[in-house]
Amino acid sequence: MKILIADDEMVGRRVLAQQLEGWGHEVLIAKDGQEAFELFQEHNARMIITDWMMPNLDGPGLCAKIRASEAGSENLCFVILLTSKDSSEDLACGMASGANDFITKPFHHLELKARLANGERILSLQAELQRQKEEADHLARTDALTQLMNRRAMLDTMRLDEDRMRRERRPLGMIMIDVDHFKAVNDNYGHGVGDMVLKGAADCFAAAIRGGDYVGRWGGEEFLIALPGADIIQCAEVAERCRKQLASMRFTTDQGQMLQVTASFGTASAEGSDRVELLDLVDQADRALYWAKYSGRDRVKIYVASADPNRK
Ligand code: GH3
Ligand code: MG
Ligand code: MG
Repeated sequence: MKILIADDEMVGRRVLAQQLEGWGHEVLIAKDGQEAFELFQEHNARMIITDWMMPNLDGPGLCAKIRASEAGSENLCFVILLTSKDSSEDLACGMASGANDFITKPFHHLELKARLANGERILSLQAELQRQKEEADHLARTDALTQLMNRRAMLDTMRLDEDRMRRERRPLGMIMIDVDHFKAVNDNYGHGVGDMVLKGAADCFAAAIRGGDYVGRWGGEEFLIALPGADIIQCAEVAERCRKQLASMRFTTDQGQMLQVTASFGTASAEGSDRVELLDLVDQADRALYWAKYSGRDRVKIYVASADPNRK
């Protein structure tokens, strides 16, 4: 493990460093609290053993500074205060500054080893918790079948982009996609093949879009592509590329049957005085998708407000 030690006394820190290196740790050495704080930031040290009394910044001061820098983070380092102070008041003061543990000088190497092991255990539990949280976050935002963003993640991401595009006075484009006659795929080939086709369509769209654009699974066989900065013409171009690529794909079932699918696309983009709320923009793309279905499927339609009888 990488351990940062801070001690203004040369002999003390050399003995400690040798001891730690002897146990196989990588040691970073600081001669005062300020230098320790800089090394902590530079090397992202997770385990810190610091002397109490040091020039520039003392041990409790270092702890406080580290904790302040960690505000909002769940990845906290483990700090052991090394001191000849051993009163209850001192202990309380050290802990209040953010230290996790205490070792009173002079200390036995077995005590140091035991306290380090305890610290490592806590750090690894914390890391595991963090990993599980990230995994849960990812699962909550990812569609299990296609591995695309799900509707919730799409909405969150689009809201951020919508704010950004408004600030930059640029449009936000949208493409709503619905696979054509998909029910027939399930009915004719089974749900498993239907799933394979959806996964294939998802991969196809993800590969066809430009950097900065993103696609999510909006519902069953519906996908939504968000295109920050894209006007309606650019949206239609991307949609047409996606349409062609999907239509050119061939899917093979386990029984060796070959099938292909098409999809219908509705695009919308708004800026300036036509700017609408995010969900209204999604509605507009949906409306255009309906027109694409209505006029024969396997095509791209753009939303035109003057052609919309439901226009708000
Ligand atoms: P249209 O061209 O009008 O869109 O016709 P469609 O058959 O695609 O539309 P419809 O809404 O009638 O059917 C969609 C089907 O998609 C019904 C549903 O069972 C299927 N579906 C939704 N989610 C999944 C899924 O995750 N896997 C599979 N295999 N099928 C799904
Ligand atoms: Mg549908
Ligand atoms: Mg459909």
